Amino acid sequence: IKKIAVMTSGGDAPGMNAAIRAVVRSCAYYSLGCVGIYRGYEGLIEDDLVELNARSVHNIINKGGTILKSARSKGFRTKEGRQKAYENLIEREVDALVVIGGDGSFTGAVLFNEEFGFPVVGIPGTIDNDIFGTSHTLGYDTALNTAVEAIDKIRDTASSHNRLFFVEVMGRDAGFIALNAGVGAGAEEILIPEEDLGLDRLLESLERSRRAGKSSSIVVVAEGDKSGKNVYELAKYVEENLPQYDVRVSILGHMQRGGSPSCFDRVLASRLGVKAVELLLDGKTNLMVGLQDNKVISTDIKVAIAGGHSINHELLRISDIITT
Ligand code: ATP
Repeated sequence: IKKIAVMTSGGDAPGMNAAIRAVVRSCAYYSLGCVGIYRGYEGLIEDDLVELNARSVHNIINKGGTILKSARSKGFRTKEGRQKAYENLIEREVDALVVIGGDGSFTGAVLFNEEFGFPVVGIPGTIDNDIFGTSHTLGYDTALNTAVEAIDKIRDTASSHNRLFFVEVMGRDAGFIALNAGVGAGAEEILIPEEDLGLDRLLESLERSRRAGKSSSIVVVAEGDKSGKNVYELAKYVEENLPQYDVRVSILGHMQRGGSPSCFDRVLASRLGVKAVELLLDGKTNLMVGLQDNKVISTDIKVAIAGGHSINHELLRISDIITT
């Protein structure tokens, strides 16, 4: 292998820049050429590529977002699109690809490898943490800290006015952010997609909190929680059933995707970026790098795509105990 290309694809996440930097610097360290691909697969099809050297990535380890931009590409889902992508890589004499992204991006990478025999390695980058084969995805730790900081601020106003706040955090299919930010911010209740605790239980718990003399309450709700109600409907339901409460809703939204990456995400990105390049140098392909028991490991990328990553159910029990 003489030249590696790197791209960010799918939803952006804090730490992607630190991973790009690690890939580019590893290439420089091992005397490999390195090319950055703008806007994921879409940019690859359009030949939107840039030669990168060690100096090109200075001062980005601390930056949120991705300097290479990200995109979703319809073209790459077609055979013609992938053919064009392949030709553009060959034209630039690139012999391997590092894809920083989520499940969808990895599915595209596997297909690309199967069709053209092109070596690919994936780095998991998404704030949702819903990827098998790693305890942490890039951006998850930062998003958690952002969510906790925001909920702390909401708590200040909630307790000043004796209010009940429903705070919606990101996570359409996964409750990692809701569960961990909820415990970290001392939320009274946490509603996640993985578990249906029932609305009766929610009412009972809030009533218990009120009787116990709590001056405010916070319910953290993941976007995809199982109640069947969106966060506004939930708030309305509780207000109707517990009229003593003054209920408000706050949706944290895209702020959770931005911001300077936490030190944890920077270190993780650096470790995963180096490993990705070293695997390709070793002649490996179709792997995703990840963290397990604080060791950098690699998983067959198809296994990573197919496998589920389950939340720590024990945390729900812990939450019940510490919010008594
Ligand atoms: P996130 O978790 O943030 O959504 P993701 O990587 O899963 O990230 P997707 O939008 O699912 O995001 O995928 C990114 C891109 O990967 C798609 O826009 C498409 O170009 C490519 N891709 C996804 N699935 C396939 C597929 N089955 N075949 C070819 N390309 C695909």
